[in-house]
Amino acid sequence: MLANLDAVVARRARVGYNDTPIALYGTRGRTRNRTMSEASRVVIIGWDCAPPQLVLDQWLDDLPHLKAIVEGGAAGRMRSSDPPITVPAWTCMMTSVNPGQLGFFGFRNRRIGEYDGKWIANNSAVKHPRVWDILGDAGKRVCAVNVPQTYPVTAVNGILVSSFLTPDTNCEYTYPPGLRKQLDIVADGYMIDVDGFRTDDKQWLLDEIYRMTDKRHRVCKALMQVDDWDFFMMVEMGPDRIGHGFWKYCDPEHPKYERGNPFETAIFDYYTHLDEHLGELVELAGDDAAILVVSDHGGKAMKGSFCINDWLIEQGLLCLKRPLTEITRFTADLVDWERTTAWAWGGYYGRLFINMKGREPQGTVPQSEYENVRDDLIARIEAITDDTGRVMRNTVHRPQDIYTGPHVDEAPDLLIYLDDLDWRLGQDVGNPTLHSFDTEIGPDDSVHDFFGMIATRLPGERQLTIENAHLMDVAPTVLEILGHDVPDHMEGCSLLRD
Ligand SMILES: [Zn+2]
Repeated sequence: MLANLDAVVARRARVGYNDTPIALYGTRGRTRNRTMSEASRVVIIGWDCAPPQLVLDQWLDDLPHLKAIVEGGAAGRMRSSDPPITVPAWTCMMTSVNPGQLGFFGFRNRRIGEYDGKWIANNSAVKHPRVWDILGDAGKRVCAVNVPQTYPVTAVNGILVSSFLTPDTNCEYTYPPGLRKQLDIVADGYMIDVDGFRTDDKQWLLDEIYRMTDKRHRVCKALMQVDDWDFFMMVEMGPDRIGHGFWKYCDPEHPKYERGNPFETAIFDYYTHLDEHLGELVELAGDDAAILVVSDHGGKAMKGSFCINDWLIEQGLLCLKRPLTEITRFTADLVDWERTTAWAWGGYYGRLFINMKGREPQGTVPQSEYENVRDDLIARIEAITDDTGRVMRNTVHRPQDIYTGPHVDEAPDLLIYLDDLDWRLGQDVGNPTLHSFDTEIGPDDSVHDFFGMIATRLPGERQLTIENAHLMDVAPTVLEILGHDVPDHMEGCSLLRD
């Protein structure tokens, strides 16, 4: 199983890997005890977007390494954050606080008081300690690879390799600085993400996803071997990219499914490949390591895209300066703000903003009317129908009902989940109908789901209780496994059974 890794190690020796005086190569001289009965180390393997209904319910028998974890431990669904989106989900998981504390609600966030202003929530926006910061401060050595929102990199007691918001691999995307040059050698050109993954060139996309996944795992296996870590975490983005790129080819329930297409088993095949990597990581982790395989949210077939701004126009709540004759990207300069009540951003969930007097530059809704307008919008959104006239299973949240913390009022005025997330929301305007089966961001076949997965195995007698697991439970669980106190500010609960 480890033949490939031997080759990596041999090549690493040839290029003088061990000569570079950076922290990667320092160890604290501790001898690992691989027969300990309790966990002394923790490994988290993150599969972004891995759907429990496929991975655990349908495919487990064909994923022997994951199955071995499940049979020796526990597995089940794990509730994602609100919204169930990569940013903020991984950071909610690692900090155990909700987005109202974190202050971001997606990787794009609105600048309050501006119609067009946006900011990107990268690592600079994360003010709460992640579990690896807490462990590092307590003297534990940590290694985190490709966890979303870790660029620009910050110092850790160990190693940090940043993730998909990194501009490119020419940036300093590792801590310690310069480690990236070594990673490039190990991986033969490290890949953070598949650039341009929303493409119709599916064979190219499939090849790139495998290439990225294999490079990342070569790096992780090398780091696992040469570093004396106590906490190791990696996130693979491939499951998310393959889900969005190939769902319609693999799922007979998908509206665009075509039987006999050449990619029918693409997602399943990829997970069997990922499972082989998992087996190697688990073997390298050693018997004294607790293993957690987790996803940040689930995924499922996209039924369609609902044109939320066109709907607001139809409802008389959004007014454009002139009628449109073609599909047009929604921008602030199109809008007659003095006659507009609300506008929205699309995506796998919707964000609706009310044009409030005193907050927006040309606000129309007096503060005294704000809650009435919001209640009216909720009622109207709950009644939205699909293309057949069926009322969708829509959920509309006021941020004050689902978040706590100092940033609740920076959230969108309403968060919208259409048809239990089966429908995404499109923000373009000028669409011929409210129901679209294309997306403005390029080809995309799947949406997110509220539940990701968790599969765990602990050494010794103790186990985790997975029922009702929430991703904010992961950080307290890791701390308790390693014998650390859980800080009071963490909102999750340890899943460790007594
Ligand atoms: Zn994700």
